[in-house]
Amino acid sequence: MERQAVQRAKEAFQTGRSRPLEFRLQQLNALQRMITEKETDIAAALKQDIRRSQYDTPLLELIGIENEIKLATEKLAKWAARRPVEKTFLTISDEVYVQPEPLGVVLIIGAWNYPWGVTLQPLIGAIAAGNAAVVKPSELSEHSSRLLHILLPRYLDTDLYPVVMGGVPETQELLSLRFDHIFYTGGGTVGKVVMKAAAHHLTPVTLELGGKSPAYIDKNCNFRVACRRITWGKFTNCGQTCIAPDYILCEPSIQGPVVDCIRQTLLEFYGPDPKSSPDYGRIINQRHFTRIMSLMEGYTPVIGGQSDSSQCYIAPTVLKDVPPHSRLMQEEIFGPVLPIVTVSDMEDAISFINEREKPLALYIFCSDKKAINKMIDETTSGGVTVNDVMMHYTLNSLPFGGVGQSGMGRYHGKHTFDQLSHHKACLVRSLAMEHVNLSRYPPQDRRRARRVRMALKSPLIDMSKRTLVWAVVATVIGCGLFITLMIILLVAAGLNCTCWYWRGFYN
Ligand code: NAD
Repeated sequence: MERQAVQRAKEAFQTGRSRPLEFRLQQLNALQRMITEKETDIAAALKQDIRRSQYDTPLLELIGIENEIKLATEKLAKWAARRPVEKTFLTISDEVYVQPEPLGVVLIIGAWNYPWGVTLQPLIGAIAAGNAAVVKPSELSEHSSRLLHILLPRYLDTDLYPVVMGGVPETQELLSLRFDHIFYTGGGTVGKVVMKAAAHHLTPVTLELGGKSPAYIDKNCNFRVACRRITWGKFTNCGQTCIAPDYILCEPSIQGPVVDCIRQTLLEFYGPDPKSSPDYGRIINQRHFTRIMSLMEGYTPVIGGQSDSSQCYIAPTVLKDVPPHSRLMQEEIFGPVLPIVTVSDMEDAISFINEREKPLALYIFCSDKKAINKMIDETTSGGVTVNDVMMHYTLNSLPFGGVGQSGMGRYHGKHTFDQLSHHKACLVRSLAMEHVNLSRYPPQDRRRARRVRMALKSPLIDMSKRTLVWAVVATVIGCGLFITLMIILLVAAGLNCTCWYWRGFYN
């Protein structure tokens, strides 16, 4: 089944029909139609999978997908066009450019927490770049995956973009096959399985992983606003968001006010009983429920802590004074549990972050510009948002992805197009002006070698339109000034002659 789908995608790609820009645009528009026409079904599937509120689905997932489609359709011609680059004196009369071209068949393996976003966003880039793509959604978000399996073939070319269903065995079967790129979203453990399988075929990978994303709250900031934003980011989707703030770092003196602000915000968001709130989700399955509950063992929550395994419900929970080396601080929580770890100051927070794996995101809440810059400069993370959470994800001009253990590669907007394209280096020369090349041919001597050396060491010359326009403007102004000067001189000389003439006449 998997083999046949991949084979069909390969054959369809070989026909070349995914390459013309009109075809890519038509497929992207069809994908947009699918989102518009099936929004209610998509929201219903997510409700069944993780009890996500119908209002959150557009906000958290669909608008992002629609923005990506809109941007790709508007910019496709520009992204796919030749990209002229700087030349040297040796290549001044040649064409030198980078030509983006499709890679071939891309395997997209998605996770369950945002099952539409993590599969369709890479798919948009794959289509835009002219590839075929095999989509393997997560078996854990079964309602969404089944719906994707039904819908995608109704809107897109069935051979070029098949959806393969299944769990671990089916994914491993897919991974044994040869692709031109693998785009994986999920945990790091399976990320290693993916990379190992890819290495067998020398297939490049993009790994969108997770990790522990810290939120540092400086004592010099508005706690009320900071805590409202952190509470939203942490408990949306029941904490099952790769870039959710995993834990808070703050000074001991502000821990109490921070807890009070989060408590108050939770009351505003979900009321006194979050279990009955339509805005509060559920854990994906029993396995993850048990995993998260076990992380909390031995702690007395300052907020929440209640649970109901029959519904995979865990209340929004906050734990204070969590020891830095506890189990809770070793692995990504990926659930509605928010530990607070105290640090002595910002310097200490920076050391704390740098002693651990590089996070997918870092959140800094602070009003002091100098301190903000210091923290950005002295830490490493996939992305940073200052004085908010997760919002860097919404800007498709920014590359989204991890660093180190939080992933490799980047996507969103043009970054996805570039990630799923081969950037072919093109130098188009003419057969004329052969005398310029003579010094690089044998037999070599000292004089020729010196000439080659000088020619090859010539600096890059910017031949972009802007530079050329400036060069023309400068030349025109220069010529204008020169002509004006000449006229002035001639007139002056003429006046001089006239003076001499009249002087001679009167004398
Ligand atoms: P998951 O269990 O759904 O697994 C992801 C995919 O891997 C699925 O399609 C699944 O079928 C496949 N898979 C699982 N085990 C496998 C195995 N042994 N061999 C081959 N394939 C296998 O998702 P998950 O890993 O629980 O996802 C959660 C993680 O994903 C979190 O760490 C989260 O931070 C991360 N995540 C990252 C992003 C991002 O954009 N960086 C987005 C969403 C989730």
